Amino acid sequence: MTTIDELLALDRRHVWHPFTQAATAPAPIPIRSARGAHLIAADGRDYLDLISSWWVTLHGHAHPAIAAAVARQAAELEQVIFAGFTHEPAIRVAERISAILPTGLERVFYSDDGSTSVEVALKLAYQYWWNKGEPRRHRFLAFEGGYHGDTFGAMSAGRSSGFYKPFHDLLFAVDLLPYPETWNGDPDTEEKEATSLAMLEAWIGRHGREAVALIMEPLVQGAGGMRLCRPEFVRTVADRLKAAGVLLILDEVMTGFGRTGATFASLKAGVTPDLICLSKGLTGGFLPLAATVCRQEIYEAFLGGNFERAFAHGHSFTANALGCAAALASLDLLQAPETAARIAAIESVHRERLARLAHHPGLARPRVCGTIAAVSFGGSEQGYNASQGPRLRAFFLERGLLLRPLGSVVYLLPPYCVSDEELHRAYDAIEEAAQTLT
Ligand code: PMP
Repeated sequence: MTTIDELLALDRRHVWHPFTQAATAPAPIPIRSARGAHLIAADGRDYLDLISSWWVTLHGHAHPAIAAAVARQAAELEQVIFAGFTHEPAIRVAERISAILPTGLERVFYSDDGSTSVEVALKLAYQYWWNKGEPRRHRFLAFEGGYHGDTFGAMSAGRSSGFYKPFHDLLFAVDLLPYPETWNGDPDTEEKEATSLAMLEAWIGRHGREAVALIMEPLVQGAGGMRLCRPEFVRTVADRLKAAGVLLILDEVMTGFGRTGATFASLKAGVTPDLICLSKGLTGGFLPLAATVCRQEIYEAFLGGNFERAFAHGHSFTANALGCAAALASLDLLQAPETAARIAAIESVHRERLARLAHHPGLARPRVCGTIAAVSFGGSEQGYNASQGPRLRAFFLERGLLLRPLGSVVYLLPPYCVSDEELHRAYDAIEEAAQTLT
């Protein structure tokens, strides 16, 4: 049998890990199995997964109902080309997500992950205008600090996230608005919103007739540092764009499927976008699958007598049947009353414990949105590269907690099966870190 050391030597020899500076990063932790909110390492150590393994796991790892659904589907139909063919799991997922999304979002284009769902949304929005005979529309708008994935369109939309310096010359132009970040007790929220809205107004005045779409992460910018904005702000932006005839793309890759306390952040904000991007929690975190869902009118702009009007985009694994089976099982769990109760319970533990942390002199900007909570560790260094990040990460791992700070921002985004006791354990460790590391 291969020992852990042999495995790690092979990993070091052949594997390239994402978002990792291998020259300085500690060796990765080999995980053997997982259950609920727990990861079990090859050496038997237990890690409480408080970030849902990059925000994908909804109901817990290896959930038996989803595992069984995937196994049943694998024995029946694992994959079929999705051009010229279709299958019941894909049809049912489309029907079910249309039923829970804001009314009017009813046409589903499948792809593989968050980045591809964003690429599809950007391309659909662009070609929509082209098909309608308005080819001069070429300008996109996004928010500073937004993150939408690592493919070229997604990088262009998230150009200010600070991750893409080597590629800047290759990105297409996307205009940026300031993001009115807010937190519990922020006195300047309305002023920041007014500045942002005034800039939106000016942009519409200057570029409205060349505009394709605005893309934003509603309510929470994830990778940008769990930065919140108010539902009222998202609603005002949506209303303004609608009046100006500019499309709105909401990237709910992270915020979808209950994360913000509502099934979707757009519902919490009371907004129906023209296009919405979904992935991560779509399959409960079991398999890579994504959906870009749009209004029927957008779909109809692609119909016509020639192929040129069609959307010439597809992936080998579009609407993979295993992913769709996982999604159906995950949606059943999401709609169970126990899940709503757990989501509410997670939010109330967040609020109780963050209220206590808020008084700590080394911590700033406590914030909660549904199951997502974050606090910024003080110090002048901010941003993803803040040196505090790796120290905090190591501190929590030593205590059996998978918390992966975004720079100096410590956040919790747990699977919904996490217990109150487990959350309190995490908060105790955050308090300890605040005492010893700030
Ligand atoms: N959009 C948002 C809001 C995200 O948080 C992410 C991933 N963190 C993506 C898009 C990209 O998703 P993926 O990593 O699955 O390509």
